[in-house]
Amino acid sequence: MTEQRSTEPEVTWLDPDTVQVRQPKASHWEAPFLYLLFGRERSLLIDTGATSDERVFPLRSTVERLTADWLRRNPAVFTRPYPLVVAHSHAHGDHIAGDALLRDRPGTTLVGTSPAEVIGFFGFRSWPDETVPFDLGRRVVDVIGGPGHEPSAVVFFDRRTGILFTGDTVLPAHLYVRDLAQYRATIERLIRFRDDPTAPVRELRGAHIEMSASPGVAYPPGTVEQPDEAELPLRPRILDRVLAALDELTGAVGERVVRRRFIVVIDR
Ligand SMILES: [Zn+2]
Repeated sequence: MTEQRSTEPEVTWLDPDTVQVRQPKASHWEAPFLYLLFGRERSLLIDTGATSDERVFPLRSTVERLTADWLRRNPAVFTRPYPLVVAHSHAHGDHIAGDALLRDRPGTTLVGTSPAEVIGFFGFRSWPDETVPFDLGRRVVDVIGGPGHEPSAVVFFDRRTGILFTGDTVLPAHLYVRDLAQYRATIERLIRFRDDPTAPVRELRGAHIEMSASPGVAYPPGTVEQPDEAELPLRPRILDRVLAALDELTGAVGERVVRRRFIVVIDR
């Protein structure tokens, strides 16, 4: 931990082909997590952060640097420019603002943020009750319909690492539920997916940390200093706990259920 407040992205290689990037708190209190996955034919960026100013959060140069690093280590590959697909966990502003920084990047495809655009791009035929494979080249990511927090939300499962990238749907934070019926169906869908032995889920990684290390205690929205924050990864069994928490809710705006690792809030 450094004393100085940096706006440099916090980069963690989760494996040689998978990067976690956190937008630092100093640049935006939401401090969302982004993920960059490299395959033999293209890479996938999940989310673009809360800021559309490269000087505040240098997303474009970070993507260039990480991609150059990876290509250097994997010289045998590919068409140039090496293609990048930019997709989103969901369409809220703190996950898509950086799209503007990548729009004119060579070889880059930006997936739209409306439900129709997400459904069309990934080829869902029975949204949201379907899982569709998305092939990065010898690396398949399953895309799972995930509305409830937001209508165009999806969850990505990386078969390589066993990570379920859950966006704002399941994370150590407030779980803001905008549509309770859809959200419950999404959690049930994720539980079915988790329980399928052909897709072994190792852990969940969402898009924010708002919980402290003290069970049931969250930092309030707007917090910039989180010296004692909870860890990001969640065990797959957390999905059962989220589903059980939903049983205590009627869907009235403002209702909340506090658990050790998350707080469900009925939101509008
Ligand atoms: Zn959100």
